[in-house]
Amino acid sequence: MKTRNVEFIMAPRQPHYVGDGFRVHNFIPGSTRTTMQRMNPFIMLDYNSKFHFEPTETPRGVGVHPHRGFETVTVVYKGKVEHHDSHGGGGIIGEGDVQWMTAASGVLHKEFHEKEWSKKGGDFQVAQIWVNLPAKDKMSTPKYQTLLQKDMQKVSLQNENGYVEVIAGNYEGTQGNASTFTPIHLYNVRLKKGASLPLQFPENYNTALLVIEGSIIINDTEQVPTNYFALMENKGESFSIKADEDALVLVLSGEPINEPIAAHGPFVMNTREELLQAFDDFNRGKFGYLEE
Ligand code: MN
Repeated sequence: MKTRNVEFIMAPRQPHYVGDGFRVHNFIPGSTRTTMQRMNPFIMLDYNSKFHFEPTETPRGVGVHPHRGFETVTVVYKGKVEHHDSHGGGGIIGEGDVQWMTAASGVLHKEFHEKEWSKKGGDFQVAQIWVNLPAKDKMSTPKYQTLLQKDMQKVSLQNENGYVEVIAGNYEGTQGNASTFTPIHLYNVRLKKGASLPLQFPENYNTALLVIEGSIIINDTEQVPTNYFALMENKGESFSIKADEDALVLVLSGEPINEPIAAHGPFVMNTREELLQAFDDFNRGKFGYLEE
């Protein structure tokens, strides 16, 4: 097994607001080295690093907007997210929960801090990943997978050194609960200070890490602090992460979808024509209706 090295480490960029509730650092496709093509099937990564929101009677968030052609995966570390969509679906994503929404042919939805949580305020920490769909599935029926913390598949490490929480894909034979359209591994890895974890993924899988808490050292050489992102090379398969303080790390690895990308705002399709069609369908109300 050849070693996979770090391609580059990215500091969190200046945060920007999505609506008034998501104060995010963009990592994908935020730099010339993390374009949609390079990171495919992970075509967007926004991270609301831990941030304290003051109490409010009017929940903060982002109002009605469409998506087509991909999936949105929302990983909640702190706080609560409430969502509603044009298919009549909705729910609350709490701490440790993950919502895997397949927008596919199109949904309208809105995402806000949960009402009661908003009244108290508190620390809020959420990652949202957009997962591309292959052309044959871009116009499939929308669906939701609610992955609750209590049902997460976890692999405990020896000597109480932490665990690998498998959201999607598998780790050493333990399969995550999310179903995916293309091969993807998505983990939350918790490591005690001094513990290390070997990881391996097929060489061609686009692979990256986001340090949610603490600090890690990759391959005993590259330090990645809190809120930093590391992109791994597509040479070699195996690498190690070691916690130099108690750490929580989001690990992404996926088989690239080798198809053209035509993206604009909330639509990610294969051709310009499909993109124009998406805007046209949205303007004609074909994504349904959702009250503001
Ligand atoms: Mn959205």
